[in-house]
Amino acid sequence: MDAPPSIRETGAPRLLILGGTAEARELAAALQARGTFAVSLSLAGRTRNPLPQSAPTRSGGFGGVDGLEAHLRAERIDALVDATHPFAATMSHHAHEAARRAGVPLLALQRREWQRQPGDIWREAATIPEAVEKLGPAPRRVLVALGRNEVRALEAAPQHACLVRSIDPVEPPLAVPQARYIEARGPFAEADEHALLTAHRIDAILSKNSGGEATYGKIAAARALGIEVIMVARPARPEVETVDSVDGVLEWLERLPHHSSPARRGV
Ligand code: NAP
Repeated sequence: MDAPPSIRETGAPRLLILGGTAEARELAAALQARGTFAVSLSLAGRTRNPLPQSAPTRSGGFGGVDGLEAHLRAERIDALVDATHPFAATMSHHAHEAARRAGVPLLALQRREWQRQPGDIWREAATIPEAVEKLGPAPRRVLVALGRNEVRALEAAPQHACLVRSIDPVEPPLAVPQARYIEARGPFAEADEHALLTAHRIDAILSKNSGGEATYGKIAAARALGIEVIMVARPARPEVETVDSVDGVLEWLERLPHHSSPARRGV
């Protein structure tokens, strides 16, 4: 990625945000408003029409750990913030290793998990295929709130009627006899989720434990309606210093030593 001229001219410390989340977007906006860092943001490129960002943005994989390390060095990045989705564990592992190799300080920004509340009917699953299996052998009416690249797991259980919600269309459609599709991007309000679950007579929800407010409405609505949620647990992520808010990142950045990283010095 070519750094924008303003970054090269100001000599401000350079921060790369690994994004794809609302938190990454908020962080980029907060930092752009302050102007103390030259911020760039990286997206996986999963959605066709990503929301606009306040910072210069690149899109697509780096080419593994080696590619990210090369990027950190070429762009003379001084600090890296991993604000990827809680389920984007591969990217987080790559960030951990590439930052270590390049000597770039790394912080993870990770929203808190949802916690089971009184009245919730949750069954935990370690993986998405396990979650599909936990729906059981009898036909059910399922709201599938998974990534578009994950929903194919439902093909292993064609007895269920699926209502699949994703940002971009699921192509090709699932090879199951009963599936309906909704294209929508959160946030989703609880009242709307309540109406959706009722209108489609949903009796189970497949969800990742993504955390955050934007997609919690379906969990709260499921509680109110007594609907079971098969909740996929988060994958393991590398052990790095982690905060759960944009403010936490801003505080970490203030504590960073005011010298260039080895990646910036070309070491
Ligand atoms: P992943 O499995 O962690 O990453 C796979 C590869 O995608 C990475 O190795 C990297 O490619 C590339 N990548 C991921 N995030 C990137 C970023 N911010 N900038 C540049 N490249 C990036 O992540 P995933 O396949 O995107 O998704 C895994 C899970 O996270 C799914 O459950 C998905 O629904 C959820 N999720 C992801 C995002 C997102 O923005 N990625 C957003 C919402 C939900 P290289 O190895 O080539 O560098």
